[in-house]
Amino acid sequence: MKLIFATNNQNKVKEFRSLLGDQFEIVTLQEAGIDIDIPEPHDTLEANATEKSTTIHRMTGENCFAEDTGLEINALNGAPGVLSARYAGEQKEAADNIVKVLKELTGKTDRSAQFRTVISLILEGKEYQFEGVSKGQITNAATGGKGFGYDPIFVPEGTTRSFAEMELTEKNKYSHRARAFEKFVAFLKQTTNV
Ligand code: IMP
Repeated sequence: MKLIFATNNQNKVKEFRSLLGDQFEIVTLQEAGIDIDIPEPHDTLEANATEKSTTIHRMTGENCFAEDTGLEINALNGAPGVLSARYAGEQKEAADNIVKVLKELTGKTDRSAQFRTVISLILEGKEYQFEGVSKGQITNAATGGKGFGYDPIFVPEGTTRSFAEMELTEKNKYSHRARAFEKFVAFLKQTTNV
């Protein structure tokens, strides 16, 4: 079964492909010949995920999905949340975002946080959403060179290492995206008999 993944983020594509069996073929925007940067204008992950999937569905008429992820830090009242990508500015630089988060947490004892992913699937014209959460702690400094985004400053519950210190197979055991994806794949298998 073919599904267009409405993202230009190759890291996300890599993570999803690492989780998929060969029943599903993920086609990226680039592979589908679509060159757009889909806006994320809303104030919830849910609405932004819907915006992305419906934009691509309108353009192609194909089955497709999108996801939106945010890092929600309790001591910052849920920030950066939906603004995670551009927390330190429109340049969307991961290193700048990390510096800003660590600075804002200086002196705070509560470093609990969660990553939350919302997947929006458009299947035969109808929308379905799936959520995945990974709870953990923000470190005092960035550690590890793998992964992307905020991975170097997030240690998921059940480990003492940051996502950026893990191989992808290990990150997938704890990750928000993998958890949302499991629900998404279970639904697809059940609904489509693939
Ligand atoms: P978006 O879902 O592409 O809008 O991503 C929001 C922000 O969260 C971006 O800055 C990403 O780099 C970051 N992000 C998304 N998923 C992850 C992850 O699995 N680990 C670390 N950072 C992530």
